[in-house]
Amino acid sequence: MSSPTDPQHIVVIGAGITGLTAAYRLLKIASATDYSGPPLTVTVVESSASVGGKIRTSPFGGIAAVDEGPDAYLARVPQAVALARELQLGDDITHPTAGHAAVMHKKLHPIPEGLMLGVPTGVMSLARSDLMTWRGKIRAGLEPILPSSGDHKDSIGNLIRQRFGKQVQQLLVDPLVGSIYATDTNNFSLAMVPQLAALATGRSVLLTARKQMKNAPKSTTPIFETPRSGLATLTQTLNDRIVALNGQIMTSTSVQSISRAEKGYLVDIAGATTSSLLADCVIVTSPARASASLLKSLSEDVATLMSSAEHSSVVMATIKTVETDLPKLAGLSGYLVAKPDQDRVTAASFGSNKWAHWKPNDGSMILRVSLGRDGAPTHDLIHEWDDEQIVRQVIDEVGRHTQTSITPDSFRVTRWPEAFPQYRPGHMKYVEAVESSLLRNAPGVFVAGASWRGIGIPACVAQAEKTAQSTAEFLSHLPD
Ligand SMILES: Cc1cc2nc3c(=O)[nH]c(=O)nc-3n(C[C@H](O)[C@H](O)[C@H](O)COP(=O)(O)OP(=O)(O)OC[C@H]3O[C@@H](n4cnc5c(N)ncnc54)[C@H](O)[C@@H]3O)c2cc1C
Repeated sequence: MSSPTDPQHIVVIGAGITGLTAAYRLLKIASATDYSGPPLTVTVVESSASVGGKIRTSPFGGIAAVDEGPDAYLARVPQAVALARELQLGDDITHPTAGHAAVMHKKLHPIPEGLMLGVPTGVMSLARSDLMTWRGKIRAGLEPILPSSGDHKDSIGNLIRQRFGKQVQQLLVDPLVGSIYATDTNNFSLAMVPQLAALATGRSVLLTARKQMKNAPKSTTPIFETPRSGLATLTQTLNDRIVALNGQIMTSTSVQSISRAEKGYLVDIAGATTSSLLADCVIVTSPARASASLLKSLSEDVATLMSSAEHSSVVMATIKTVETDLPKLAGLSGYLVAKPDQDRVTAASFGSNKWAHWKPNDGSMILRVSLGRDGAPTHDLIHEWDDEQIVRQVIDEVGRHTQTSITPDSFRVTRWPEAFPQYRPGHMKYVEAVESSLLRNAPGVFVAGASWRGIGIPACVAQAEKTAQSTAEFLSHLPD
């Protein structure tokens, strides 16, 4: 029989931003002066040798810290910004320098002004741009007078084509949204991109977007922010705070299965040795498909649903190119390649134009180039290419796009297999089915992270914070 002062143990699977934030928040909740629940102990189990998950920073090309995965988070939503300030990273935070982005369609076109995630809020800037044909512009211009559209079946591609025609979908919305999720927006859930879903509530998407833009408080806050020392500072600081709050982090240790115990759950782990952890609650933040088998003995339904999750893979090539290549890239922060023009490269970011702290002092330029996306023929095969072949492809494609000859001084290739969860149309129903089955069959087991309710860092932080609260509430209601 446990007493009210017996500590309750939470096991968190995965030390990406979601798992680390959930663990940190639980320990903070339990250490608050007004906390009246049972003492909590927290163990984070991470299969890799280091924490951070998709967040990874390393030295490159003479620069101390260049991110290999995400390089910034959205600053116009509060969650990640607030966490970074709470962790006292404020002095390290910086914002992108001004620069324009472009869409590659036959040539590079500056992205027209006044778009919301690619959705036009007016027709004049589209008319001035030579990205679309006159036929495409006229079709887009008809949107405000079209009657309500038919069922878009929760597909972004369907909605945008119905309202604006094929060119706005292919040349604007798909490059902008598709590059965030490494996806094909035809097969991606509208509801999971709340900014776009909010535009589909009235008859005209353009008029709703224009109204929203007009009513939005004028913000001087930059759209993105990041620590100068790299995003891994965020996850490493969380790691250090968890340890300082007496939480435990086990790296190079993977969870093998979760089963029911007499009280709570038994979490089987394998690292240097195999053993089991007894847990009152388990928070699963590892990717859905890879975690399906862990939950099999608790709920066949959940395991089946999770094993059906789809993910897309990307490769990130980071290149330091020599000074002579620079003039044509000046002022350009990067570009997105429209699907009709895509071979392997989907986006290029001119890191030294985007970030002041990524400017090598020999005048050269750091480029980060993404290859592969969901639905692209043979996109997974790029992972099997060797580094030199990937870099040759980048030199060829980016060289053609920018009319520049790229001469790498050094390069680094990071493979991100199955890194981007794909939210298919109807994704929210799938999430609710998993969550309600867990509630019935495995109370105290929670899922959170990129596979579920948003892949951006702020969305992962938000899920982690909410799950930490739910876990603390669940534990405070457990019988002694
Ligand atoms: C190339 C790239 C660029 C991106 N760019 C941006 C960006 O600019 N801005 C932005 O906001 N977002 C960006 N994202 C998305 C964002 O980085 C991720 O969605 C987010 O970091 C995911 O965090 P997570 O904690 O949910 O999952 P993860 O980071 O995947 O963490 C899950 C952890 O679980 C571990 N794990 C798996 N199985 C087990 C097991 N059985 N036992 C123990 N541990 C296990 C994994 O090793 C991993 O460390 C990008 C992603 C990628 C890949």
